Amino acid sequence: MLLTCFYILFSAGLVYNVTPYMEYHPGGEDELMKAAGTDGTDLFDQVHRWVNYESMLKECLVGRMAFKPIAAPRDVSSVLSEEKKQVNGMVSEKNIPGASARDLTPSYDWFQTDGLITIVVYTKQKDMNAELVIVDCQDKRLRGEIILADHSYLIELDLDHAVQEGFDVNIAEKVGKVEIVLKKKDNVHWKVLGRPLESHNTFIKRTDRGLFYRKCKLVSKTEVTHDTKLFCLMLPKSTHLQVPTGQHVYLKQVIAGTEVVKPYTPILPSLTLDFKQPSCHDGAHIYLMIKIYSCGLFTQALDRLQIGDYISVSSPEGNFKKSQVQTSEDLFLLAAGTGFTPMVKLLNFALTEVSCLRTVKLIFFNKKEDDILWRNQLEELALKDKRFEVQFVLSEPTKDWGGKQGKISLSLLSECVKRSRKDSKVLICICGPTPFTEQGVECLRDLGYSQEEMHAFTA
Ligand SMILES: Cc1cc2nc3c(=O)[nH]c(=O)nc-3n(C[C@H](O)[C@H](O)[C@H](O)COP(=O)(O)OP(=O)(O)OC[C@H]3O[C@@H](n4cnc5c(N)ncnc54)[C@H](O)[C@@H]3O)c2cc1C
Repeated sequence: MLLTCFYILFSAGLVYNVTPYMEYHPGGEDELMKAAGTDGTDLFDQVHRWVNYESMLKECLVGRMAFKPIAAPRDVSSVLSEEKKQVNGMVSEKNIPGASARDLTPSYDWFQTDGLITIVVYTKQKDMNAELVIVDCQDKRLRGEIILADHSYLIELDLDHAVQEGFDVNIAEKVGKVEIVLKKKDNVHWKVLGRPLESHNTFIKRTDRGLFYRKCKLVSKTEVTHDTKLFCLMLPKSTHLQVPTGQHVYLKQVIAGTEVVKPYTPILPSLTLDFKQPSCHDGAHIYLMIKIYSCGLFTQALDRLQIGDYISVSSPEGNFKKSQVQTSEDLFLLAAGTGFTPMVKLLNFALTEVSCLRTVKLIFFNKKEDDILWRNQLEELALKDKRFEVQFVLSEPTKDWGGKQGKISLSLLSECVKRSRKDSKVLICICGPTPFTEQGVECLRDLGYSQEEMHAFTA
């Protein structure tokens, strides 16, 4: 049954229809219904006394009271039909063309206490999580980006006054409310939140939003193999950013007077799942496993960075969706060289959070034995978790290599990639140099796997 919930602000005599907003209201439908058909001023003031209701509810305004409303009895539904007849200019929802088509553009609001400024974004999306919220606050400039499927909502302001370093981000996942809580530097009353910048309060396609960079500090650099290093970067205190599984960031450096940008896929500091060093998982660090090419423009410059130096890191990008794994029973990961990097978080996610997975198999292609990244950790993981298997394939092995040899091919994949049951739901992820990925996808197609059963990591 569709109820029309009239929310009457008696003090101004304004009538608001908040029905379309019910699903997204932070307090839930029950809270809104308390005021249905009645004067909701007191209830509104209890929860939002700092908010200007005219601006917050302007989209819901349906008319002005032409008479003095009477308090509604408890049976809300009977009052609703009565109110429908009485309110000026009001028509039932089914008569409003397009009334059920919801505007999914997020909105924001803000309020203050003596010490805090709280910005509230109503995303109108129910499954919010910390990975979808990216906030940077440098000096007085605030940038808060919220990722909603393939769209991005942005708050971008020059704040009215200075704030302290660091802030809190609170997310009400089920109702899609995001709070950014800033700490005032001085205990002054803010007249406005700030001066809006060009992209403030815009909701556009993610791909149309330019990349945003913040400077991160190099805190450690350790050897993984003869040519590959693990870089640990520390995000600024005033940045909230978590790179989702399967996504990459861009690093930017000025090399010989020119800005150069390259993508890299953040990993975990280790594959050992019971890794117990919370400081490494606190969201303040980004770990990158990077192969240094002897004639590589970017990686050579990267390798010259000293501990304590800064490098620009972009917000995450990528189109991989965890839900692809969540519905799979067999997961195959085909990686070549540093194409292993997206598989690290993916492996961790699959083995710790996806209970329907029966088998997880990594087929790891390298030239030589000493090129294999995290070999010990992978073997250890295979011993620990019976669902996981790793197979190393070398294209230039020494004569005492007892494992698989060769490059990616139809015969090799037909041997290594097999459903655990005839009708198993399978996902095959592939990452490596472009020729590897292209050939892999072609072979898988020839083996009868569909587009939906494959994901290729590319820029
Ligand atoms: C989405 C995405 C994520 C990536 N993630 C990572 C990552 O996590 N770790 C990582 O080390 N790299 C990653 N890369 C590759 C990375 O972006 C750079 O291409 C690489 O670091 C080389 O940069 P460079 O400027 O030093 O080399 P360049 O100056 O571009 O090239 C130097 C030499 O190295 C060769 N070369 C460069 N890249 C490759 C390659 N991928 N395979 C084979 N030969 C190559 C070139 O042919 C050339 O001979 C990723 C690439 C993409 C598209």
